[in-house]
This record gives sequence, structure tokens and C-alpha cells, in this order.
Amino acid sequence: MNVSVRIDIKGIVQGVGFRPFVYHLAKKYGLLGHVCNNTSGVSIEIEGQKSKIDEFIEMIKTAPPPQAVIFEITSSDIEPVGYDDFVIRPSDDQKEKFVPISPEIATCNHCLAELFDPFDRRYRYPFINCTNCGPRFSIVKDIPYDRKFTTMAPFKMCRECKKEYDDPDNRRFHAQPNACPVCGPGLTLLNDKLRKIDVPDAISEVCTLLKDGNVIAIKGLGGYHLACDALNPDAVFKLRSRKYREYKPFAIMVKDIEAAKRLCYVNEKEEKVLTGSIRPIVLLRKRPGCSVAEDVAPHQKYHGVMLPYTPLHHLIVEESGLVLVMTSGNMSSEPIVYHDEQAFGRLKNIADFYCIHNREIHIRTDDSVIRVWRGKEVVLRRARGIAPFPLVLNLRFQENILACGAELKNAFCLGKENFAFLSHHIGDLENLETLTSFEEGIEHLQRIFNISPTLVAYDLHPDYLATKYALSLEDIPKIGVQHHHAHIVSCMVENKIEGEVIGVSFDGTGYGTDGTVWGGEFLICDYRGFKRAGHLEYTPLPGGEKAIKEPWRMAASFLYKIYHDKMIDLDIDFVKKLDREKWPTIQKMIDKGINSPLTSSAGRLFDAVSALVGIRDEIYYEGQAAIELEMAADSEEGVYPFELKDVGDKILVLVEPLFREIVSDLERGVGVESISSRFHNTIANIILSVCLKLKKTSELARVALSGGVFQNNLLLEKTYVLLDKYGFKIYTHRKVPPNDGGIALGQAAVANERILRGYTF
Ligand SMILES: [Zn+2]
Ligand SMILES: [Zn+2]
Repeated sequence: MNVSVRIDIKGIVQGVGFRPFVYHLAKKYGLLGHVCNNTSGVSIEIEGQKSKIDEFIEMIKTAPPPQAVIFEITSSDIEPVGYDDFVIRPSDDQKEKFVPISPEIATCNHCLAELFDPFDRRYRYPFINCTNCGPRFSIVKDIPYDRKFTTMAPFKMCRECKKEYDDPDNRRFHAQPNACPVCGPGLTLLNDKLRKIDVPDAISEVCTLLKDGNVIAIKGLGGYHLACDALNPDAVFKLRSRKYREYKPFAIMVKDIEAAKRLCYVNEKEEKVLTGSIRPIVLLRKRPGCSVAEDVAPHQKYHGVMLPYTPLHHLIVEESGLVLVMTSGNMSSEPIVYHDEQAFGRLKNIADFYCIHNREIHIRTDDSVIRVWRGKEVVLRRARGIAPFPLVLNLRFQENILACGAELKNAFCLGKENFAFLSHHIGDLENLETLTSFEEGIEHLQRIFNISPTLVAYDLHPDYLATKYALSLEDIPKIGVQHHHAHIVSCMVENKIEGEVIGVSFDGTGYGTDGTVWGGEFLICDYRGFKRAGHLEYTPLPGGEKAIKEPWRMAASFLYKIYHDKMIDLDIDFVKKLDREKWPTIQKMIDKGINSPLTSSAGRLFDAVSALVGIRDEIYYEGQAAIELEMAADSEEGVYPFELKDVGDKILVLVEPLFREIVSDLERGVGVESISSRFHNTIANIILSVCLKLKKTSELARVALSGGVFQNNLLLEKTYVLLDKYGFKIYTHRKVPPNDGGIALGQAAVANERILRGYTF
């Protein structure tokens, strides 16, 4: 029986070879009709035997092109047209719709084979790509995804490239960034005076310079990297001192998976993530005797490792044979540099040479960071290769929502229908550079996804730049969302669960509804609202922001609260080394409540213990004291005492007994390794005990864990094991970062729910 069917496909189906795939499939089954891109995806009209059409649809569902992601396929019978062929038709524009755009895709094996084939016309061409690989999001200026709307527009394809581009049988059919040495972008090498270095072969010169210990700024896919030989301690030290980034770990790039395995332990799943098409930085445990210079990741048990993902990277690591430091080209807290002029300014005193190219980067994207936990990925930084891939949700946005996110590790979110476009990592919104990147990012994503916000969600902290930005938008309704509530809802939305849960939201800082600094919170919440059911006891944060940078202040604050004036007599190194000039001033600040806001922050509790045991008094990047405390832990199983106290309808977690025991351990000379491990066990036990109490009163047995503290793998694992043992169903983050980079998703869902329930402004 012959039938006519229209098939509509939504998803990432443009720029990934979908139409030629459909074309060949139709030919194979002897079906007639056409396929075209439109502004909501791909549509097909097809005629032929019903059984063949069913098989055809089944093949689209089960074996689409490798980089395509199908969200939805719908089909309906239509009037027969009487086609006599199957063709690919030009795009069919419908203005109001939107199409997800593919993220960047690592160089595919076909292109790699050509890259290293001396007889191929693209032999050693650093910009080789095809329908299955290459730049995408970073070069898109506007929609639809078409060469003229990308930064490839200035390059006119040569005859051979155009032939490939027009041929449905070619791997480069409609590959928008298609290029070759004749017609495409090229490399230029500059010295630190920005003078062009004339060499016959820029790539081999770059390799030589790297081997000689130079720092080279390399323009990549989403921005500039700073590269040097990771096995050369002098080169690494030079880069570190020039970058004023005294401790923050640098990522490294290795040639292939074998090279990764020589330096670090790599399990099966980690190998899959490392070699997949995203090519993120994967956190891998260092092997003993790992030959990478100590300064690459000081005080860490892990290296952030990635494999090459552009042809240029492949050529450099292959031909130099080096393990490279590949760290974001920026000054410590600023976003990654992506324009040439900006690079020449910002990296002036860091780079010895610049390896640049003339394909413009339109939107900057850092490298994504992933860790594998319990056999699955946890995205810690959502950026290149992942963003702007949307999350397909169970909920439906009533309005087009813009959620502005928080301050540190900012990412914003655009919500439309059942899609959440959680943005690429923007950075810490603490300076003009990052704020500009935030504003430009919002404007860009609105344009390419055709979303004009009709509702804005923001964090309650009045001083956050993201909040100020939200409040400055005119003529648009706004909803403020509490920080820790947003964290938990983000975790719930990601896990597609609704109703009420126990939310454990542990992080550094979030504005509380009572004006204090929250951060060790137990919530009973759903999408709409929350009840603060428990929290860590309040302790003064002497000096506010300054106490975050100097964890010793927090340690002193806890000790002072517990021992008062007797604190100074404690026989421990921390007290002996305490700055006797600064301390009386700080003591006075605490006594009089001057610039000493109260905090229930879990992050600050980790800081305090880190400083107390002598690991870190002062930090150079967010979370450093806690990270180094985690790294110090051994496998000691003891637990410190703590106390839960009911105050009104809240459970207060008192940590005085914990501190008294740590102090006595220190007095007895117990090692930092054991203290750290016991401390982690204790926090996991605190979480379990509070959850058990809440389970009794609320009958809830589902726990969502969110907040930056849960990037701590040791704590996450211990907490998971305990909660699981007591029968809780545990929800954690996977695709959305547990840190503040995931908060915008929660904000969007909360605002949406309030609208649904008739929120009045
Ligand atoms: Zn390719
Ligand atoms: Zn060409």
C-alpha cells in the first residue's frame, strides 16, 4: 500500500549532516519526496510503501548521524503529491520558531586521517573539518546556521571546496566551516613585540618554541590558551608567576589516551569521556611518580586532562611529542580572551609568542570540566562542546524566561517551552570584563534561539551584578529566588522529579531571607517554595569578604566562640602562629558585631577546619582551602561528635563538640590526614542525622544534594553511601554543575512555578 507522510524532527539536526543522511536513506528504501531544514528542525515529505516508510522512520530514530540529537519526531498522513524523485530542498523559513545549534565537535577520525595523509590536499591543514566535526557555536553570529551568518563568511570557498559543499554524497555537504589551504583561514606566528615571524612552517616552529620552554598564546576554538611544556618545571613556573595564579591548577593536553594513562589513572568511563566528541577537561587521579611538573597542579591529587580537539592541537601535540599546559588565556579572574586585539593587550606580559589565526571567534567558550563519579559524568563547568546544548525538561515554561544566575561561576539560562538553554560558563561576575561577557552572552543567545524574555528570575543578593542587571531591565516582570532554593530546584529539574524533597544545599555564600549569609542549609522544598528546616549554627564572619579570602579568620571565629578568652592559651600551632597584632582587632570586630555578618555557611566551616589544622590560612582561588583539606584526607573512619538542637521548628547543627575534638586531636599530635578524613565523615553523618530527623516529621525520603560543597568528591561519596544505607533516594547533579553555574536553571523553574500558581507582582 502506498502512503504519503510528513515527518517533523526537532533537535540538533542542522549542521550535523542530517539531510544527506535522510536523502541516502530515502534512496535506499526507494522512497520519493523531499527533505529540508526549517526554523524548528528538519521536515520530510515522503511517499512510498507503508512498510518501507515505517522502516525509514525507525532508522531515523535508531541510527541518526553521530552528532545529531533528536528531541522529538512526529509524523502525519498527508495528501499524495506524486513525487518522482527524492531531493534536498533549500531551507524553509518560519520566523517565530527556533532551532538548537550544535556545540563545537572535536575533529573526527575521517578528518584526522586526511590531516596526517601527505597525499591529501588538506595535509597538515589546521582548520580541516566536515559535517561531523569542527567549530559551531563559537562561530555562529546569527540564525539560520548558514555560512553567511558565521565568522567563515569572509572566506570564499574555492572550486574544490564548493564542489564538496554542494554534493550530497560528500562528507562536507553543507559543512558551513568547510575550508582548505587554498581558500580557508591560516596561521600566523608573532613574537612578543607582535612582529610577524616569517617561517616556512608555523606549526613546526611552534613545536620548537614550546620545546625550548617558551609560553605561547594559542588561539583555539573558543578563546586563547596559554601553552607551555608541562614537564618542564621552569616553563611552568614562568607561566605561573606571570599569570599571578599562584595555586589554581592548570589543565594539561596529552597526545592520546595512552599518554593520559601514563600520567594518571583512567577507568573505562573516563576513557570514553576523554576520547568522545566533547573532549572536556577530565579530572583524573595522578599516578605516583607522574612526570608533570609539580607547579601544574600544586597540592592536588588530580590533573585536569584533555585530549586534542582541533586539528591545530593535534598537529602540535603530535609533532612536538609534548605534554602541554593548556590554561585559559586570561588574567586570573577575568574571562578567557578571544579577540586578537584583546589578547595582545591582556596577555602582553605573559606570552613569549602568539600563534594566531584569522577565523574570528564570535562567542567565547572555555573548556568544559567533567569528573566521573559512580560511573557517570558530573559536569563541573558547562562550556565548549556542551553549551548551548539545551536541557529537555519535564516542565513547560509558561513564559520565555531569562534567569540571571548568581555571582561566582555565573551562567544564565533561557527557558522556552520545554527547553532550558543553560549558558556556557561566563565566569565570576566581579569585574567589567566578565559583566560585558555576561551581557553579550545573553543578547547573543536571545538572538540565535529567537527568545525574547517575558519574565526575569534573579538571586536575592542585592549586590550581585547579575541581580543588578536583572533589576535594571525595564517593563518586564521579575521574580527573586533564594539562592539555596534555586540550587535544590536545579537538581530536581535536572533529575525530572517534582513534589517535595529534603534539599541539602551546602555552599559558600548565598543571601538568606533573614539577611544573614546562608550556606549550610536543609530545606523542605518543592518548585514553588521552601521551608528552612535546619542549618549549621551561625558564626560571625569577621571582615565579611575578607574572611572568605583568609580562612584563618573563620577558624579563629569558631575557636573564640567556643573558648572565649581561653582560646589564646590553647596548645596548638594555629593559636601559636596567630597574628597577635591582627587578632585583637578582629576579636573586637566580633564582639561589637562590626563587619562580622553571621553565617551558616558550610564552605566557611571547611575553610575554618582547613586553617585550624594548618593547611591554608589564605586562599588564591575560590574553594582552595576546602579542596586542599579534601586532598589531605586519608581513609580513617572515625567520626567527631556534633549536636542537633531543635530551635522552634528548625534543627540547628552545633559544631562546638566537633571543634573541641579537633583541638584535642591537634594537641595529641594526630595527623592532618586523619583529622581531615574524620571531619569529612562527620559532615556526612551530620547530613544523614538531619535527614533522618526530617524524614520522621515530613515523611520525605527523597534527598537532593546541591551546592558547590558537593564538588568535594570525598564528601559526596561518603554522604551518598550513608543516605543510601538508610534507604533514602538520592538525587545529585550530572549535566548541570552542582556549583553556582547550575543555579540559573533552578531560578527559571521556580519563577515558572510561581507564575503557574498565580504569583502577583
Ligand atoms: Zn570531520
Ligand atoms: Zn578550498
